[in-house]
Amino acid sequence: MVDASLRSMILQIMRTMRDEHGISFLYITHDLATAHQISDETFLMYQGHTVEHGVGTSVLTQPRHPYVQQLVASIPRIDMKWEGTITLPDNAASGHSAPVGCPFTARCPYRMDICTTTMPKLVQIGADDQQAACFQYEQQSVAHS
Ligand code: SF4
Repeated sequence: MVDASLRSMILQIMRTMRDEHGISFLYITHDLATAHQISDETFLMYQGHTVEHGVGTSVLTQPRHPYVQQLVASIPRIDMKWEGTITLPDNAASGHSAPVGCPFTARCPYRMDICTTTMPKLVQIGADDQQAACFQYEQQSVAHS
């Protein structure tokens, strides 16, 4: 949470160290904008679970998991006035799901019966080795371990 010019300088130093010295970074952030700028590989987590993973920035430009879709949709755009409302399911107030099943169940507009009883695995979807942990994609994909 540093100011924009200092943040840009830090990211540039990290890129230089990566490109010129082969140094890798584990960059943990809530800031999707800088994650988009710097990441070669991205893991999106919810309540300690990886819900989406991808090489490059496809997870942020074409998010598949409902949580990541909501995250990306909530990023303010400087060229657009904020309009409309965000509707959450009635039981979303706590933000916590039952200890079994998908951790995003309480807040997911697409939840199904299986979501409350079974933890979804990461499955490959689309190109670029993009994966999401969501039952919406299990039928069309090969499960990853
Ligand atoms: S597994 Fe179910 S509750 Fe979890 S994100 Fe997918 S549709 Fe929503």
